[in-house]
Amino acid sequence: MQTPQKIAIVGSGLVGSLLAIYLKKAGHVVHVYDRSPDIRKIEFSGRSINLAMSHRGWKALDGVGIGDEVRTIAIPMDKRAIHMTDKLNFQNYGQEGESIYSISRGTLNKKMIELAEQAGAEFFFEQKIWDVTLADASLHIGDSERGEWQEYKYDMVFGADGAFSRVRHRMQRQNMFNYSQEFLNTGYKELNIPANEDGSPKLDKNSFHIWPRGDYMLIALPNLDGSFTCTLFMPFEGENSFASLTDREKVEAFFEKNFPDSIDVIPKLAQDFFNNPTSTLVTMKCFPWTYEDKIALIGDACHAIVPFYGQGMNAGFEDISILNEMMEQYGNDWKMVFSEYEKSRKPNADAIAELSYRNFMEMSSKTADDKFLLQKKIEKHFSDKYPDKWIPLYSRVTFSHRPYTEALAIGDKQKEIMDEVMLLADIDKIWNSVAVENRILELL
Ligand SMILES: Cc1cc2nc3c(=O)[nH]c(=O)nc-3n(C[C@H](O)[C@H](O)[C@H](O)COP(=O)(O)OP(=O)(O)OC[C@H]3O[C@@H](n4cnc5c(N)ncnc54)[C@H](O)[C@@H]3O)c2cc1C
Repeated sequence: MQTPQKIAIVGSGLVGSLLAIYLKKAGHVVHVYDRSPDIRKIEFSGRSINLAMSHRGWKALDGVGIGDEVRTIAIPMDKRAIHMTDKLNFQNYGQEGESIYSISRGTLNKKMIELAEQAGAEFFFEQKIWDVTLADASLHIGDSERGEWQEYKYDMVFGADGAFSRVRHRMQRQNMFNYSQEFLNTGYKELNIPANEDGSPKLDKNSFHIWPRGDYMLIALPNLDGSFTCTLFMPFEGENSFASLTDREKVEAFFEKNFPDSIDVIPKLAQDFFNNPTSTLVTMKCFPWTYEDKIALIGDACHAIVPFYGQGMNAGFEDISILNEMMEQYGNDWKMVFSEYEKSRKPNADAIAELSYRNFMEMSSKTADDKFLLQKKIEKHFSDKYPDKWIPLYSRVTFSHRPYTEALAIGDKQKEIMDEVMLLADIDKIWNSVAVENRILELL
């Protein structure tokens, strides 16, 4: 058991609010600050951005006994529904019974803040943190950057303030602090598929829908009210780009040509398209994540990744599981807790950043490719027969708690093997033969 500390968390997002629950359960005094108003008191526009939760996220929630409560607001998706211009294909994500779960970010965040408050954490909203003094863990809070600031001193501060973290900003000015940030040339925009009048969904509710089109794609995730939140990922500039879709006619013609089966289900296409912002996607890496036994970064504040593996929040939740393991192991030795936490997490954060970056190609191009689908079928067939010899990469990332570094390394090895197998003569005819199985066994 640790000696109670007075701890501040900057950021009441998904990671900050879950961390608050863990720290409260460990017996600490926990204050959470956020620059935004209390999300529970804001009227939602009806638009709901959703996220896919998978094994790593559930483990962290179950670790403090709130998984079942969150499951009540989650929709299982056991397969991809791949919308080609002329057909619809389905591809299971994992084994029977394995699903990822669609959850509204807003609903989840409200619930987590509620649960953190019940656990005894105190929240302070509309409090902007402008600076942190690293050496004595004090926060500097005020209305504007140039105005007057109040100083609040803590035993330690966690920066859970997202990809553009102010806490990290201060750490960046330290000697030997490494930092990189890279924006994609692809951006995204949210669109909406409302429910039918009777509340039923217009698409299959238990699928993650994808319209893969090469350098751009549309995806849709189900909401509890029968609607779907769509995200259009597309380059900012070029032939098929946000810059090229300048008026209503162009947007409608583009969707009619490229996503024909979406036209009937997105009634306010042009309205959504021009009202909703086009957002950027960034990969941010840094190190170290901690300062002495005073400051620690967690979640997007220390590893922002592109969303193509659906792992950003899951990875942030896994940070908390690992931090908690270190707290249990090293007790009051917070220096050790922090240094073992960052040592364990940094390589894994880099691995999931790499996998997420690569997965854009898989989602946007390869899921449309018959050869790729055949390869997946062969992998699945082999893995069903030899489950201890072959777990597909997607499952290693999504339905496992093994390190992301391991998934990346084994995934690369598996890719080499599958590249060889796909060269076998008549592979499309012999894909489920003993000869193919033996070839894989040989190469393993
Ligand atoms: C399009 C898209 C789709 C995604 N899909 C998925 C998915 O399917 N699955 C998944 O696991 N992840 C997904 N992610 C990633 C996921 O959204 C993030 O990893 C996750 O939200 C990170 O949570 P966080 O709490 O670390 O940061 P945030 O959610 O960014 O929270 C940071 C909080 O800090 C507050 N804050 C910031 N600065 C200050 C300050 N100076 N003072 C006070 N408060 C401050 C903010 O108001 C905010 O509340 C997706 C991301 C995007 C962009």
